[in-house]
Amino acid sequence: MQESASPISDESAATRSLIEQIVAVDPELLRCSKCDYIIHGDGHDHCPECGVEIDMNDLCVHVIETNRPRLQYLWYTQVAKLPPEALCCVKCGYSLIGQMSNRCPECGLTIDWEDVAHFAASRIGDLFEYRWAAAPLKSIATTFWLGATSPFRLWRTYSRYDTPNVKPLVILILIQWLIFARGWQTTALAIDPFMNDVIAANAPGPKMQFTYNPRFENADLIDYAMWSVFTFLALSLFVQSNREYKANWRHVLRVFAHSTFLASFSTGAWCILEAALDSSLYYWPWPKNPRSGVPSIGFDYYSGLGNAVLGLALVSVWAMLWIGYKKYLRIPHGWAIAAVAIFVGHLATQCIHIITAWEY
Ligand SMILES: [Zn+2]
Ligand SMILES: [Zn+2]
Repeated sequence: MQESASPISDESAATRSLIEQIVAVDPELLRCSKCDYIIHGDGHDHCPECGVEIDMNDLCVHVIETNRPRLQYLWYTQVAKLPPEALCCVKCGYSLIGQMSNRCPECGLTIDWEDVAHFAASRIGDLFEYRWAAAPLKSIATTFWLGATSPFRLWRTYSRYDTPNVKPLVILILIQWLIFARGWQTTALAIDPFMNDVIAANAPGPKMQFTYNPRFENADLIDYAMWSVFTFLALSLFVQSNREYKANWRHVLRVFAHSTFLASFSTGAWCILEAALDSSLYYWPWPKNPRSGVPSIGFDYYSGLGNAVLGLALVSVWAMLWIGYKKYLRIPHGWAIAAVAIFVGHLATQCIHIITAWEY
């Protein structure tokens, strides 16, 4: 057979793989829309028979739409635009990526694609793990909101049977670390002019100047990063001994990545609370400085506030881990595992901190 059409160099890999998948099901599905000539594989921009111009991607989509019963997987991924990783067997949870037959390769169930799609759509929603590339801002806002306000719903949204995507989960942890690391400074950008130009400028009595330098150092942020690593490792070690719950390290990573939402905002909240403490100078009878006659708040109150905020952040991590273990991993004594892991993470971080302090 003579194939005279010129190869198309800019043919996208996506289209090529689409053509391959259709041809694998039935080599006679791809036909010229004008003369019905069978188009073999890619590399055509014109029909070899009648010469009509062909857009292979359009042709593929047309074939998928008109042969939907035979190309269900392609229909749901190409036409309905469901992310392939969200399609799983509804019985055993096996991933159906690239599954062109209508039988689950794992458990043998005849696949009802409508059920599969319904199951997938109900849980992918706008979660960052699935939509991080397509809609990063919207998906991160949705995930944070869901995780912080209704963690029970969050864990109903995830399937226990798919394989968690490590890359977006690690990105999610890094984003939270960044919010924690720069939350104070960002909040101070708004708090500082508000306290000095609005509150202090209009208040009666002695003029006061407020400054909002973070009450932690960059070394503390390294501690927090190490705490994340050690706590996650401690959680993973537990699951090794809890294989009966069929949770692997990826599932633990998914729980861990969603347990620090509230804690990541603690430095920003700390800055706001410190401004609230400062503003109490105007209505609370704080002792006056004997020389200047200006009321002042003891440093103990500031450090106490900081400890309270960070302590609450830690409690929130513990509570979120507990919910994740109970509702998602279905491990009943998750509260104890979370407590021990947080303690071990804290202890290990302190040890490293002391050792590196000796070094320098
Ligand atoms: Zn033709
Ligand atoms: Zn199955």
